[in-house]
Amino acid sequence: ALADRLEAVFKTLRGKGRLSEADIDATLREIRLALLEADVALPVVRDFLSGVRERARSAELSRALNPAQQVISIVNEELIRILGGQARRLRFAKNPPSVILLAGLQGSGKTTVAAKLGRWLAKQGHTPVLVAADLQRPNAVEQLQVLGARAEVPVFAPEPGSGVGDPVDVARRGVEFARRRLHDIVVIDTAGRLGVDEDMMRQAMEIRDATEPDEILFVVDAMVGQDAVTTARAFLDGVGFDGVILTKLDGDARGGAALSVASVTGKQILFASTGEKLDDFDVFHPERMASRILGMGDVLTLIEQAQAAFDAEQAERAAQRITAGELTLDDFLEQMTAVRKMGPIANILGMLPGMGQFKDAIAHIDDRDLDRVTAIIRSMTPEERADPKILNGSRRARIARGSGTTVAEVNSLVERFFEARKMMKQFAGMGIPGMRRTTKA
Ligand code: GDP
Ligand code: MG
Repeated sequence: ALADRLEAVFKTLRGKGRLSEADIDATLREIRLALLEADVALPVVRDFLSGVRERARSAELSRALNPAQQVISIVNEELIRILGGQARRLRFAKNPPSVILLAGLQGSGKTTVAAKLGRWLAKQGHTPVLVAADLQRPNAVEQLQVLGARAEVPVFAPEPGSGVGDPVDVARRGVEFARRRLHDIVVIDTAGRLGVDEDMMRQAMEIRDATEPDEILFVVDAMVGQDAVTTARAFLDGVGFDGVILTKLDGDARGGAALSVASVTGKQILFASTGEKLDDFDVFHPERMASRILGMGDVLTLIEQAQAAFDAEQAERAAQRITAGELTLDDFLEQMTAVRKMGPIANILGMLPGMGQFKDAIAHIDDRDLDRVTAIIRSMTPEERADPKILNGSRRARIARGSGTTVAEVNSLVERFFEARKMMKQFAGMGIPGMRRTTKA
C-alpha cells in the first residue's frame, strides 16, 4: 500500500533539516505512482506534480511536519483545490422553474441520477419534475417513470402511443408543464450513445437551446478512469456543461476520473452517486476524494492532527532549549500535552519533530499515566520545574500530596526526565535529527 511505501520514505527523510529537491523527488515519486494507480490521465499527473513541486519549493518549512509529510500535505491541498475546494451549490433561476439538463454517455447513469437528484431536491424542500427526453432507447421513458415513482417525484413524459418522437419538443413541453404546475425545478434526462457521436451531441444542443438550462450537468461514470478525459472534452466542446456528476463511486473506481475531469475541464464536481439505491447520492466532497485518490486517509488524518495540535512557537522555544541541553520540566510537559491532544500516543509519537528523543522516556506511558504526570508537574513551583535538581525529599513529598500521587511516582518521573535531558545533551552535541528552524526554502 501507498502508506507502507511512504512509511519507508518517511524513515529515510525524517530528521533532515531542509525540504530539499531530493526530499521532494522521493515523495513525489510515490505520489506519481499513487495517481497512476488511481487511473489519473498521464498529462494530468504531469501538470499536477509540477504544480505541487512549485509549491513545495517555495513553501516555508513546517516545524510540525517532516519533509515527506509536508510534501504530502501540499499534495493533499492541491488535490482538494483542483477537485473544487468548497463544493459549489446548484444555480437556480431568478424566475422558476430552474432547468437542469443532464448530459453524458449511455450507461453513465443519467436516468438514475435524474431520479436521485429529484429526490434529493425534494428533500431540500423543492418541488421538482423529471422530464423524459430520452426517446432513443425503447424503455428509457418507462425506466424514468419507474424510478420517479420510487423517488416520489413526478415525471413528465410523452403520452404512450402519441407517436411523439421529438425529444426537443418533449423537453420544451416539460418545462412549460413545470411552469403551469408551479414546479420550481425541471430535471431533463437525455439520450446518450455508447460513444460520442454527432447526432447525439446535436440533439443535446437542440434541447439546450430549446430549454435554456440554468445548469448543464455532465454525468460521468467514475469506473471509466482516465477515458473520462476524452468524453469530458467532447461534451465540453459540444453541448458544454457547468458542472459534473460522478457516478458509480461505489465500485472500485479509484478517483482518477474525478481528478482528470476536474483538472481538464476546470468544472466542479457537484454530486456523487455511490450505489444503485436512490439514497446513494450526495453532494461531492473534495477532501474525501483526495484521500481516496491517495489511498492513505489515515496518513492524512495523522498529518492534520499533528498540525492542529502542534504549536509551532512552542516547538521552536523547546527546540532551542533542547539543542542547548536546557530542557525543563515545563518543556517536558508541553511536549507531552501536545502529544496528548492528538490521541493515542503510540500512533503519533514518531511523527513529531523532536519527539523521537522523548520516545524511550515516555513510550511506556499510557494516557492515564499522562494525566498523573501532568498533575505532578503542575504541582511543582516554577523554580522546581525550571531546575528539578532542587527537588529534595520534602519537596517531593509535598508534590506527591498536591498531585494526589505517591513519592515513588514523583521519583520515577524526575528520573525519567533526567534521562531524557541527558539524551538531549548528547544529541545537542551532534545536532538533533528532526529539529528544524524556520527557513525559506
Ligand atoms: P443512462 O444510460 O446514462 O441513463 O444510465 P442509467 O441511469 O440507465 O444507468 C446505467 C446502469 O448503471 C444502471 O444499471 C444503473 O442501475 C447503474 N447505476 C447508475 N448509477 C449507479 C451508481 O452510482 N452505482 C452503481 N453501482 N450503479 C449505478
Ligand atoms: Mg438513460
